[in-house]
Amino acid sequence: MLLALALLAAAPAAAPATPDAEIRAAAERIAPAVVAVRRDLHAHPELSNREERTGHLVAERLRDLGLEVRYPVARTGVVGVLRGVRPGGVVALRADIDALPIEETSELPFRSQVKGVMHACGHDAHTAILLGAAEVLAGLRARLPGTVVFLFQPAEEGAPEGEEGGAPLMVKEGALDAPKVEAVFGLHVGSWVSVGQAGWSDGPIFASSDTFRIEVEGQTVHGAQPHMGLDPIPVAAEMVQALQLIVSRQIDGRQPRVLTIGRIEGGTRFNIIADRVTLDGTLRTHDATVRAEIKARMARTVKGVAEAHGTRATLRFLDDGNPPTVNDGALARDVGVPALQRVFGAGALRVEPQMVAEDFPSFGRKAPYFYFLLGTRNDAKGIGSVNHTARFDVDEDALPLGVRAMATLAWDFLARAGLRP
Ligand SMILES: [Zn+2]
Ligand SMILES: [Zn+2]
Repeated sequence: MLLALALLAAAPAAAPATPDAEIRAAAERIAPAVVAVRRDLHAHPELSNREERTGHLVAERLRDLGLEVRYPVARTGVVGVLRGVRPGGVVALRADIDALPIEETSELPFRSQVKGVMHACGHDAHTAILLGAAEVLAGLRARLPGTVVFLFQPAEEGAPEGEEGGAPLMVKEGALDAPKVEAVFGLHVGSWVSVGQAGWSDGPIFASSDTFRIEVEGQTVHGAQPHMGLDPIPVAAEMVQALQLIVSRQIDGRQPRVLTIGRIEGGTRFNIIADRVTLDGTLRTHDATVRAEIKARMARTVKGVAEAHGTRATLRFLDDGNPPTVNDGALARDVGVPALQRVFGAGALRVEPQMVAEDFPSFGRKAPYFYFLLGTRNDAKGIGSVNHTARFDVDEDALPLGVRAMATLAWDFLARAGLRP
């Protein structure tokens, strides 16, 4: 008994455990406001690096909650800092805020009011959820054992050509540096899982993505006399086949990978040999080594096929691409999965990695991260369209769960950080 008392006296004051019940009550209390914010953002979508109204709205809201606000960051982004009254670690929560160039075809009363622009990836929900988590945690600030950094990131869908943007620019502009962030949490909504569920992984969860362009040079001539010119169309066709042979024949079959040529353009008329063909595509993998290997083999294949036909072709990767999103195993085990299990119960599911991609792993250059899928599918309500489609929608019943999950993840991390010697 005495020994136990002595140990207790010697130990530093433990950080308070996460107040699950209070987080839940607060998330449910503010749910109508979170839905209202999501609908407002949904009606006013803005393209990547053009999120002026959204960034402004977020900055104002965070100021109203009493956070320290840095705005703009990475063009239109916002960083909010909530300092708990108790000292402790520093954790970041991230939402992306941009929309897509898609014409919404839904009949929702809050459908997009901007022609040709739509929140078709659910970043309106991400933004509303993170503002909700900021409100919940700000309300518990007196007991919050550390600092929470809220990252509202523009241009996840890709900055316009020639512009920097997204997570890499947030990192470059020091969004994770002062205060120095020790872990980052993020989520994505979608129909991968149903409302009430969360999908997690303790390793890869999203793929890498690389956008590339191949140009095959030809020599135009009358379509009846191809031997007098150089026809790039059959060469391009052979390249499409040869590139698929890389993924099907040259890479270990146990490694996930997708190579898609999504666009081919060449020629002007049925009886004229084209002067060039352009092929655009995307490469997806879950592993940095496989990614590098396929890229090298693509260069060899494009060059080799072109040379075999006496022409020239170039392969160009349009930017640095996105690395695969690979969760930190220890962070998943110690914080991510237990937090999701408390919020979602049996609805917290391990999921297979997806072939879609994110720029979120750029934050991993500064700190370990954990990223999960928030289920927003609801077949009974007819909500099941996949992200990036004109009828994409989310079941808003998922929003308070997202708020709880983000607030819980942050607090759990800080509570653990407080236990460190
Ligand atoms: Zn998207
Ligand atoms: Zn997205």
